[in-house]
Amino acid sequence: MDVSSAMEKMSVKQRAGVAVQCHACKESCSGFQPHSWRKACIACGCSTVDHAPGGDAEDDQQMGRLLADSPCSHLTAKVKGGGGLRMYKRNRMIVTNPVVSRKDPTFNTTTYDWAPAGLNQTLAMQYMELIPESRRPLSGTVGALERRRQLFSQLPAYDQDPMKCQSLASEEEISSMLLFVKSYKQEVLGVGEVALPGEGGALREAAIQRTAKEAKDRSNSDKKGALEQQHHGSTDSSTATATGSTNGTDDNTKTVHLCTGCQGEVAKENPAVYAERAGYHSALWHPTCFVCSECGQGLVDLVYFWSNKKLFCGRHYCQTVRPRCSGCDELIFCQSFHTAKDGGTWHPHHYCCWKCGQNLDTPCQH
Ligand SMILES: [Zn+2]
Ligand SMILES: [Zn+2]
Ligand SMILES: [Zn+2]
Ligand SMILES: [Zn+2]
Ligand SMILES: [Zn+2]
Ligand SMILES: [Zn+2]
Repeated sequence: MDVSSAMEKMSVKQRAGVAVQCHACKESCSGFQPHSWRKACIACGCSTVDHAPGGDAEDDQQMGRLLADSPCSHLTAKVKGGGGLRMYKRNRMIVTNPVVSRKDPTFNTTTYDWAPAGLNQTLAMQYMELIPESRRPLSGTVGALERRRQLFSQLPAYDQDPMKCQSLASEEEISSMLLFVKSYKQEVLGVGEVALPGEGGALREAAIQRTAKEAKDRSNSDKKGALEQQHHGSTDSSTATATGSTNGTDDNTKTVHLCTGCQGEVAKENPAVYAERAGYHSALWHPTCFVCSECGQGLVDLVYFWSNKKLFCGRHYCQTVRPRCSGCDELIFCQSFHTAKDGGTWHPHHYCCWKCGQNLDTPCQH
């Protein structure tokens, strides 16, 4: 190994290590130092989101935990020896392009940190071209960084797992959070699927088969004890395409497909996003219209929450059900919380100044 590549390896290692710098203020942050309860950095004052600490493995674990026990658990896999822990089977996409300018043909590869599951590469690339470049999760670019930021802000771990919360004060609060999480996983949470307009019937058929298979697997594993289940994500999607021609195919020649988001036409040669919770029949979205109805952000990895016939990101769905503390950013499960004049909600003990801890109704010099 020569010196420069060794140096490169080292700097990559540093970036992935403890000294995660702030993407918002860059130089002024000496490295991420989490506040004890605010989701912010003491070194620079910016949000934890701006530091995107952790890494892919942590992200995938968290997403695995979120999708487990939901209709999207087929996008996760059991961790060997993990005691029932599930890991997100994130669909990374490696694209190989021939380099034509040289005498000997060579290839360069580009990696997408995420791509929609169950598509061939041509369609997946078409999907990528339909979303703005700043949101394409091409490894090592701002798009990939943006994806990680969105994971933190749209799907905070502390909206999913009481173990990640610092502000739950009693057994009662913990159990009401567990109940809340369980019900949104079963009733509201979903992951969008990308397909050509008119292929909704095939997706629905695949979802039905998946549910049947899962029910069968469950009863099998009940019989055989802790049997390691193999999930076949790619096989599922190929059966989806195969069954599409026989079952529930829309008549593509006459039908005009309208986007549920903007009501505009979705061209039949362009991939669109379907959502199981919305029914596959006529609901589909332009990739750029598959956004949270509250914040307008594109839904990261197509993870959506479907409520009142609207799409939400996790953060904003949770806020339609529970108040969120403006101090620690966690959902509030206690009965007595503080509502400020501006309508913001707070854990009573978090309604205080960053610097001196003084109650915010009493003016301090900060
Ligand atoms: Zn900062
Ligand atoms: Zn910082
Ligand atoms: Zn649209
Ligand atoms: Zn949102
Ligand atoms: Zn709080
Ligand atoms: Zn103060």
